[in-house]
Amino acid sequence: MWYNGLLDLSVLQLVLVTLGMTHVTIVSVTLYLHRHSAHNSLDLHPAVAHFFRFWLWLTTSIITKEWTAIHRKHHATCETENDPHSPVVKGLRKVVLEGAELYAEAATPETLERYGQRTPTDWVERNVYTRHNNLGIALLAVINLALFGVHGIWIWAVQMMWIPVWAAGVVNGVGHYFGYRNYECADNARNIMPWAILIGGEELHNNHHTYPNSSKLSRRWFEVDIGWGYIRMLQLFGLAKPKGFRPIAHSVPGKQDMDVETVQAIANNRFDIMRQYRKQVMEPVLRQQKTLMEDTIKPRYRKIRRLLSREVSLIKPSDQEQLDSILETNPVLRQIYDKSHELQALWRRRGVKQQEKLQALMEWCRDAEASGIRYLEEFSEHLKSYSLRPV
Ligand SMILES: [Zn+2]
Ligand SMILES: [Zn+2]
Repeated sequence: MWYNGLLDLSVLQLVLVTLGMTHVTIVSVTLYLHRHSAHNSLDLHPAVAHFFRFWLWLTTSIITKEWTAIHRKHHATCETENDPHSPVVKGLRKVVLEGAELYAEAATPETLERYGQRTPTDWVERNVYTRHNNLGIALLAVINLALFGVHGIWIWAVQMMWIPVWAAGVVNGVGHYFGYRNYECADNARNIMPWAILIGGEELHNNHHTYPNSSKLSRRWFEVDIGWGYIRMLQLFGLAKPKGFRPIAHSVPGKQDMDVETVQAIANNRFDIMRQYRKQVMEPVLRQQKTLMEDTIKPRYRKIRRLLSREVSLIKPSDQEQLDSILETNPVLRQIYDKSHELQALWRRRGVKQQEKLQALMEWCRDAEASGIRYLEEFSEHLKSYSLRPV
């Protein structure tokens, strides 16, 4: 039929082609704009990088420098007034529904100047992709009409909506609002889904904010980062090279002597250490206390469990009051809570000499071992086993 375009596809084929093309756009955003350009955690072969840049021009009109600058600013000012798209500050509704508008507002010359360094400035960027950033999507409309006929119109509309809805709205909004937290990073980032396929791996947003320099976004055995799958595939052909910075800490079984390197290893691996503290000390102690203190803890058990390990700056004042009242009545919980903050002081306090930090860590371990709380004693032994070097 003439109105079905050159390819004359069935409706099912059209849907599949649309999903395929929008997926390429998502992959371009996560691999090229996010991991490669904004965080420099991934090297891409120039031809691959240019393909992604061209595809983004054709299907989204995003300019690499603008996206990169706004995203770096988001990390640098997360959940503050200056954050270009924080749902905590601006409200979830606004970030989900007006994500693209927030990007446009944020692209000021000052932001581009300050955060937009190390982005393409070649001839084609200056004269085509940046100067005529809307020409690509106009061209796409023509291509769609030629290939898919009248269906090209709705396919184009879907393509125009895809990034504003999924990346700007869902990742930037929902990813800072709903979902689970593996790590207590200082902002409200959450993992939306463990199977991160639809948005190319960006669903694992809490992992990303905790380790922004890692090109692999999955951290736990059940998490799947499809973007990482593509990186490995490109790597096989010599087209990509991940530069992810992994924590350089190692736990050496049986090691019990502490030195400055132990302190450095612990500080380097701090997010994981605090996660282990939650699993190995806080949760078992809280379970014990629950059976001892049915009436005070049981009705609020899940909330207390969450609040005990939550990053302090993210706790609402009313929740803090609740937590304080529980801690007041339970000296054991008080102790494990205070110990977690003493441990965090090791890397949070600035301007303290390594030797003093080592003294503080040794004291921490001595106190933990004399506490009479078995889980705390075991954790102290575990901390001592850390080293910057493997066995
Ligand atoms: Zn974020
Ligand atoms: Zn990022």
